[in-house]
Amino acid sequence: VKISGRNDALIFDHVMDDITSDDLNIESELVGALNNNELSIHYQPLFHSKEERIYGFEALVRWNSKTRGLVPPGHFIEIAEQNGLIRQVDFFVLKEAFSAAQRWYDKGLMRGRIAVNISSVNFQQAEFVCQIKELVASINGNCKLIELELTETAMMIDAPTVAKNISILKSMGFTIALDDFGTGFSSLGHLKQFDIDKVKIDRSFIHEIEFNEQDRNITSVIIQLAGHLNIDVVGEGVENEQQAYLLHVMGCHHLQGYLFSRPLPEPQLMEYLKELPKT
Ligand code: C2E
Ligand code: CA
Ligand code: CA
Ligand code: CA
Repeated sequence: VKISGRNDALIFDHVMDDITSDDLNIESELVGALNNNELSIHYQPLFHSKEERIYGFEALVRWNSKTRGLVPPGHFIEIAEQNGLIRQVDFFVLKEAFSAAQRWYDKGLMRGRIAVNISSVNFQQAEFVCQIKELVASINGNCKLIELELTETAMMIDAPTVAKNISILKSMGFTIALDDFGTGFSSLGHLKQFDIDKVKIDRSFIHEIEFNEQDRNITSVIIQLAGHLNIDVVGEGVENEQQAYLLHVMGCHHLQGYLFSRPLPEPQLMEYLKELPKT
């Protein structure tokens, strides 16, 4: 359907108005969601192409709103970052991940670590790290079962504090991954500033990698760079065999994407893991 330029502008204006007023609704509804147990977590298995096994998981928050239905994180994380609710959101996910990791470990189904997304807004606050320490102590949590993914936004302003917090968290036993690497907010400078264990190549470089030489070249350079720095590298958003094969031959063996599994609620994940060959 071809819409004329003039109509386009009208529609665009209208949509913008909707988003602005809706942001405020989301903000107040999210407070309710945190109090009424409307947030839950899906876990996406991560695949090692050389060892041919699941080596870990990523925890992804889900908001099942009574009025809106399932709200994807892309619709509320940024709002939560702006109004400070992100502290409670990330803390909730972290706490759930600790108990899930222990549960799966007890069942003999745990593999590697569960990666938890932590906004850079939280990473740059000393109090957030203190709260993590308290949480770990109160639940006797095993930090060796958890990886923290630093997800960056425009709100990264205090890199020295982030660097300090990373070293405290690493000394507790967490590993640290730099998310969405290669995009505007996740840059080379951060590899120098932060003592990280892993970079995750952003999905935007992977989703057309089999057709786009430039994407292949950029991905290849990131993989080599990680190799030289002695850090792990993950390819995100792998949707087909060809993409998995390309990453594998380029030397990236940690793969994540719908090809292996979508993010799953815990009961379905347990079924998925039980059906895998024992490793
Ligand atoms: P992310 O950290 O880059 O997470 C990966 C996203 O890619 C997830 O979207 C996942 O469902 C999706 N994905 C995985 N494999 C594929 C694939 O093969 N193809 C495609 N097209 N997509 C794939 P999701 O769950 O909607 O999360 C979006 C973003 O929201 C995350 O991107 C992360 O930045 C943020 N997020 C999610 N949960 C949390 C959280 O608990 N805390 C914070 N601070 N951010 C979160
Ligand atoms: Ca992530
Ligand atoms: Ca990512
Ligand atoms: Ca992302």
